[in-house]
Amino acid sequence: MKVVVLGFDGASPDLVDEWIDHLPALGRFKDRGVLGRTVPPVPAQTPVAWATFMTGKNPGKHGVFSFIARRSGTYERDVAEPKKLKSKTIWKIVREAGKKAVTINVPMTDAEEGVTSVPGFLSSLEGVPQPKSLGEKVARKFGIDRVRGDLGTETLDRVDTDPDLFFEEVNEITEEMAEISLCLLQEESWDLFMPVFMGLDRIQHFFWKCVDPNHPRHEESEYGELVRKFYVKIDEIAGEFLKSAGEDALTMVVSDHGFCPVHTEVVVNDYLAEEGFLEARDGEIDLEGSMAVSYGYGDVWLNVKGREPRGVVSAGEEYEKTRDGIMECLGKIEVGGKRPIKAAKRREELWWGPYLNEAPDLTAIFNVGYQAARRPLITNGPRRYVNLNPRWSGGHDGTHDPGDVPGILGIVGPGIPKGKRVEARLWDLAPTILDLMGIPIPADIDGKPLALKDPG
Ligand SMILES: [Zn+2]
Repeated sequence: MKVVVLGFDGASPDLVDEWIDHLPALGRFKDRGVLGRTVPPVPAQTPVAWATFMTGKNPGKHGVFSFIARRSGTYERDVAEPKKLKSKTIWKIVREAGKKAVTINVPMTDAEEGVTSVPGFLSSLEGVPQPKSLGEKVARKFGIDRVRGDLGTETLDRVDTDPDLFFEEVNEITEEMAEISLCLLQEESWDLFMPVFMGLDRIQHFFWKCVDPNHPRHEESEYGELVRKFYVKIDEIAGEFLKSAGEDALTMVVSDHGFCPVHTEVVVNDYLAEEGFLEARDGEIDLEGSMAVSYGYGDVWLNVKGREPRGVVSAGEEYEKTRDGIMECLGKIEVGGKRPIKAAKRREELWWGPYLNEAPDLTAIFNVGYQAARRPLITNGPRRYVNLNPRWSGGHDGTHDPGDVPGILGIVGPGIPKGKRVEARLWDLAPTILDLMGIPIPADIDGKPLALKDPG
């Protein structure tokens, strides 16, 4: 069976439910197939989540743990990128089975031999069609040599002063991406075809407060309506794909995570400093002299003797005692009488696999409404501990409980019973797709194919 997967980064099942009467294509998934939710991995961050989707594995087996990680054996901050992904992707499995995959704008993808692709977010080749012959075709048909899959930083930087420009651009990019994808759907040969649309993620980070009446800074404004209209737009795109994919193909819609409100950011490093785990001078963290530091997303890295170049914590008992101490300190943080952190987890409680030793030693899981501050790593001058006016009003990645920020999942097509309830983890989708395509599922995959066929 041929499969089309439409990725809508950040699409929220709550908003889809609320607006379903205005979303006829997603309504078709609901009426004639499956429309439900999927739970992202910890952390529910775009690179980690799509890496989990495309490998069917937990981060301990694919090696991508965060937007920002500490490079092993150094104190360097590394931004996630496709070359950090250490596991076989579904595209490769499909190719090895003698079938063809086409990917467009999927985050964390690169040029991959035998795969027709336009690499997406976080790739050094973002927007550059692969192989060259695809680039030539896109240039000939659309007059561009780079596909704009995402907003430029310039527009993102101006969103506060020029929100109309932001919406204009995100709509324009989305329409262009849809047009190119639908053309390639018709003209390329494929067994698995997958474009990802990034717009909803970018929109909801800034404008979540406009669509969530429970947000403490909820605003009734025209922008709430523009968010709703964007859901209508992605629904129209889904409708076009349903029409074009052909009767014999199965179509899925997937998001890597959803959203929750964010009103307060917590500067984890300020608390680590207060409790004596972190040393800082003049607003600069002493990475070599500290026992522990957060690199920005609620992750905490210990400075271990024999592991880091200038480790100060001994492996074994002292390591465990230090982790326990930090967990206790994070657990008792209070902001305005409320606890921002739901739980702090040791890495072995969250993940398993050969790359576990590259994971942060601890991860703070934040309650809805809160997130870890990304930067600065530490407040300059007097400690501030929290930022009560974060730039973003919606979040999912810093670091939230995956159950609080589920993504959407829809499946419709031949053999899919209607109205069946499915509960999926994001790593279940790769084995589900392989199963539907009749390709054997590699034994080291963590996910399980969804039982779609039997009624129930
Ligand atoms: Zn995302």
